[in-house]
Amino acid sequence: MRRKLVVGNWKMHGTLASNAELLGGVRAAEPFVCEAAVCVPFPYLASCVLALQGSHIGLGAQDCSAHEQGAYTGEVSATMLHDVGCRYVIVGHSERRAYHGESDQLVADKAKIVVNKGMIPIVCVGETLAEREAGQTDAVVKRQLSAVIHTLGHCVPQIVVAYEPVWAIGTGKTASPEQAQEVHALLRAQLQAATSHADSMKILYGGSVKPDNAATLFAQPDIDGGLIGGASLKAADFIAICRAA
Ligand code: 13P
Repeated sequence: MRRKLVVGNWKMHGTLASNAELLGGVRAAEPFVCEAAVCVPFPYLASCVLALQGSHIGLGAQDCSAHEQGAYTGEVSATMLHDVGCRYVIVGHSERRAYHGESDQLVADKAKIVVNKGMIPIVCVGETLAEREAGQTDAVVKRQLSAVIHTLGHCVPQIVVAYEPVWAIGTGKTASPEQAQEVHALLRAQLQAATSHADSMKILYGGSVKPDNAATLFAQPDIDGGLIGGASLKAADFIAICRAA
């Protein structure tokens, strides 16, 4: 039995004051049956670590460098993220692939360094609307996951996968539970071909998950929780989604 995981991806939102209020609200609703985490902007990691002391809610970052350390101005290393208390790092979010030109291999390299530094990469995959309409969904997500599988080798079981159809992100258009399950089953089969531990690995769904659609999505056999954008910025919505898991 896989325990569900609900992760808030705050993206580039928040202030010291609003973060404190949000986390205070979420903490007041603990404990949750599911595992929960928030992936916050770099400057707020330190204050969120303090705000989450004594809580079971995990902390994560939204990206990291593929380099160990060195002259990479503006980059943040996996070692630093581990040092400040991160448990998770999102890698390969479609916004980074689209706006920062991240390739499948770069995403795989980031996933590897996150694992090597003792954290859990949340590896995002997903097709654009044009790719879905061209019937390329399966090929695209397979290609994206394949780079990670080949680069991680025996460490594959240490990742979390997140299926996020690009056309469902921030659009209010959710994949139907059946559409999502179909892709999740495909991803599970791909993991099964790579490792005997695939059945205990988590595959999250992301893309316009809200309190009113979370339960039906999470009821699908291969959907092990969610990666939540907009709805993770409101304590009541995030709590409701965690309770649906
Ligand atoms: P929304 O929940 O705002 O659609 O964002 C999903 C997402 O990109 C989470 O990483």
